[in-house]
Amino acid sequence: MPDRKEIIIVGSGPAGLTAAIYTARANLQPLVIEGEPSSTSDQPGGQLMLTTEVENYPGFPEGIMGPELMANFRAQAERFGAEFITKKVTKVDLSSSPFKVWVGDPNAESPTFLSDSLIVSTGAKALMLDLPNEINLVGHGLSTCATCDGFFFRDQEIAVVGGGDSAVEEAMFLSRFGSKVTIIHRRDELRASKIMQDRAFANPKIDFLWNHEVVEYIGETKLEGVKVRNVLNNEVHDFNVSGLFVAIGHIPNTDIFEGQLDLLNNGYIKTVSDTSETNIDGVFACGDVQDFTYRQAITAAGSGCMAAIDAERWLEEQHSQ
Ligand code: NAP
Repeated sequence: MPDRKEIIIVGSGPAGLTAAIYTARANLQPLVIEGEPSSTSDQPGGQLMLTTEVENYPGFPEGIMGPELMANFRAQAERFGAEFITKKVTKVDLSSSPFKVWVGDPNAESPTFLSDSLIVSTGAKALMLDLPNEINLVGHGLSTCATCDGFFFRDQEIAVVGGGDSAVEEAMFLSRFGSKVTIIHRRDELRASKIMQDRAFANPKIDFLWNHEVVEYIGETKLEGVKVRNVLNNEVHDFNVSGLFVAIGHIPNTDIFEGQLDLLNNGYIKTVSDTSETNIDGVFACGDVQDFTYRQAITAAGSGCMAAIDAERWLEEQHSQ
């Protein structure tokens, strides 16, 4: 017989762990299926595991390292009785309650767990260039978040890869810090909206390297520059930067929920405005898997708190019926 839980939380970034703290303190004994390490951008603890110093998370005036912050979140949830398993959910069946959750072999006849409610906090992955040594350089000159890391590149030369709204937005933000920001784009025109393009073209600190791709990171433990290839004539040359921001898009981690949870056109989970409710009664979503606007640890944590309170109230209603 599968183990039956009142609440299962899938994912262990700031959203999932905040939901765990709140539901554990409400005596719901949540089970957090926290994921397992599998690639550069896929770690239990979420995207903060790939960051170095976090200076904008309130409560830490001197800043805190991303992995340490997540270890603190986890310890806080454990202290109140949250249970953890370091595995991935491989399949869910949300067609009837209790919901069925598989860990391990998705073809196993019997699910691993049954759960009365589910909080989905599987996050999103920043798309990366998948070049050698990428994992070692993330947080050491290579970043996917200007809001998080821009401050560390004061008066330095920075580059942003991409040509969409994110790349332009990151470049605009970085121009407050860097001495110069170069947008490296693989074509000769931006995909970004016209208004964003106009702002970028008007910004004297922003420069463009058109028709170029980054083909190599220079530096072993810290980014010292990149090699770029001109896609028109294949010439490769060094490009000196101390910070490189990759802004080529994000993908929400929704594979196991496709066809069950309603998704927006961009693939993010659709939630009822101002709540964490999904289209399925008893299933709640929080954090970056449903937020393509803010994508901050603090906003993810806030939405994890919302999901925990929504789930608690929902469970209470079920018990009183
Ligand atoms: P996006 O619109 O998909 O743009 C991705 C960019 O990265 C494209 O320019 C693409 O080049 C480039 N790219 C993709 N893969 C690459 C690779 N392997 N190497 C080099 N370049 C690569 O993604 P986004 O900019 O993250 O935006 C996602 C959505 O959010 C969009 O709908 C956007 O409008 C929205 N958004 C809005 C705002 C805002 O309104 N303030 C801010 C951020 C995002 P190509 O152009 O050649 O395909």
